[in-house]
Amino acid sequence: MLKWLKSLAFKQQCRDKRVAKKKTVVTDVDVQADMRKSGRQFERFSKIHTKHLTGATIVSRGEHNISRKHIDKHALKVLYRLNQSGFEACLVGGAVRDLLLGITPKDFDVATNATPEQVNALFRNCRLIGRRFRLAHVHFGRQIIEVATYRSDHGRSQSGSLDESGRIVRDNVYGNISNDVWRRDFSANALYYDISNFSVIDFTGGLEDVKQRRLQMIGDANKRYREDPVRMLRAIRFAAKLNFIIEESSRTPIYELGALLEDIPAARLYEEALKLFHSGHALKSFAALNEYNLLHYLFPATAVAIKHDPQFMRLLQLAMKSTDERIKNAMHVTPAFLFAALLWIPVSNCAQEIAAKGMPYSVAIQKAVTIVMAQQVKSISIPRRFTSTMRDIWGLQTRFHYRKGRRVMAVFEHPKFRAAYDFLCLRAQAGEDVGADYTWWTEFQQQPANQQRSELPDNSVVSGRSKPRGKTGARKKRTKTTDKTKLSQTKPIDNT
Ligand code: ATP
Ligand code: MG
Repeated sequence: MLKWLKSLAFKQQCRDKRVAKKKTVVTDVDVQADMRKSGRQFERFSKIHTKHLTGATIVSRGEHNISRKHIDKHALKVLYRLNQSGFEACLVGGAVRDLLLGITPKDFDVATNATPEQVNALFRNCRLIGRRFRLAHVHFGRQIIEVATYRSDHGRSQSGSLDESGRIVRDNVYGNISNDVWRRDFSANALYYDISNFSVIDFTGGLEDVKQRRLQMIGDANKRYREDPVRMLRAIRFAAKLNFIIEESSRTPIYELGALLEDIPAARLYEEALKLFHSGHALKSFAALNEYNLLHYLFPATAVAIKHDPQFMRLLQLAMKSTDERIKNAMHVTPAFLFAALLWIPVSNCAQEIAAKGMPYSVAIQKAVTIVMAQQVKSISIPRRFTSTMRDIWGLQTRFHYRKGRRVMAVFEHPKFRAAYDFLCLRAQAGEDVGADYTWWTEFQQQPANQQRSELPDNSVVSGRSKPRGKTGARKKRTKTTDKTKLSQTKPIDNT
C-alpha cells in the first residue's frame, strides 16, 4: 500500500514538473535563440503544414517584402513558442496586409492549430476570452497578442451555430488553415505569414487584391454580411484607412442590409464606432457611413437631423476633420467630444422644444440630454465616463453667455472647460449663431490672469443678487480654488 502511495506521489511530482516546464514565462524568451531552434524544426513543421496547403499560392521569403524587423517582438515570441511546441503558427489578417503595404500594423494577430487551452498551457501570461468566439490573449504589459485557433465550418455541431437570420451566434468549431481562410472577411485580410519558413500563404487572391488596393468579400458577400453584419462597417473602415475600393459585388449588398446592424449588441457597435472615428480616418468613414445609409443604425437621431440641417453636417465634418488632424499629430482625443458633436443638434432641438413650454433653457438642456441619450444607447452604448463629459460639454454651452463675476470663473475653472470651449469654436466655425460668446471667451483667455480677474466686477452686483446663494462656507472654499487654478490656466487656444 505504502509502495503504491509512494508511486502515486512520484507520478504526481513528475506531472507537476511537466506542467511547470510547459508554463515557462515567455517574456524572458530570447528571440534569437528561438529563431535558431525554429530553423531546426522548420522541416518537421513545414511537412505538417503542406498537408493543408492544396490550392494555395506560397510566396517564399525572397519574393515578398515582409521582414521580421517590422514584426513586433512580442508577436514573434508567441509565433516562435507555438512553432517550437509543435504547432503551426502564422501572423494573419491586418498585420500581414499592412506589412505588405509598408504600413505599421495596429496590432499583430496570430493564427494557430493549437486549441485555446493548448495556447493557455504554453503561456503563463495568457487569458482565454470570449464565448461566441473563444480566443487566447497573451499579455505583455499593456500589449496583447491575440491568438486565434483555426476555425472550420459550423455543420451541425454544438460548438458553432447560426440564428434564424443567418447570423453566427457561436463560432468554436476548430479546423485547419485551409478551413480557416474561408471564415475570414476580405481576401486582403486572409493572408498568412508562416513563421516556420517566412513565406506568405494566399488561398483567396488576397495578394493581388492588396496590390490592386481593393476589398473583396470572401464567398457570397450577401451571406457573409448576414453571418456578421459588422463586416459592413469593417468594409467601410478598411476602405477609408487603406484607400482601397470596395469591389462591386461586396459593395452592393451593403445598401440593402444596413438594418441587420440593429441586432448587433450596442457594446460591440460602440467598439466599431470608435474604430471608425478614432483611427485617423473619421472624415472618410463618416462620408461612407452616409453613402451606404448606415449612419442611421449607429446614430439614428443624427441621421435624421443632418437631412434637414446642412449646417449640422458642416459641424460634423469639421469635428471629424479636427479629430483626424489631432490623431495625425499624436494629440489626445476623447470619444466624448465627437459623440457630443454627433448628438448636438438632436439635443439642442429637443432642449428648445422643452424650453418653449416654459422651462429655463439651462434646465431644459439637461432634460433633453436624458431623452436623447436614452434613445442613443439603444444603438451604441457609450460608457458612463464619456456620457458625463458629453453632458458637461453641452451644459457649458449655455453657460458661455455669462460675462461677469463668479459665474465666469466657475465656467473657466470647470474641468471640462477646454473641451467645451473647443466645442464652442466648432459651432462658430460651422456657422452656428453663437452670439458674442466665441469672441468674448477667446479674448478672455488671451488676457493675463490678473487682468481677467480685475475686469470681473464684484460677484454680488454682477449676478444681480444681493446675497450669495447656498452655503457661505462652500462658496468661500470654491473662491479659494479659483485663485489657484485660474492663474495657472495658460493653455494656448486651439480652434478645433
Ligand atoms: P486592423 O487591426 O488594422 O483594424 P484587421 O484586419 O487586423 O485590421 P482585426 O479586427 O484585428 O482586423 O481582425 C484580425 C483578422 O481577423 C481580420 O483581418 C480578419 O481576417 C479576421 N476577422 C476579424 N473580424 C472578422 C469578422 N467579423 N468576420 C470575419 N473575419 C474577421
Ligand atoms: Mg488586427
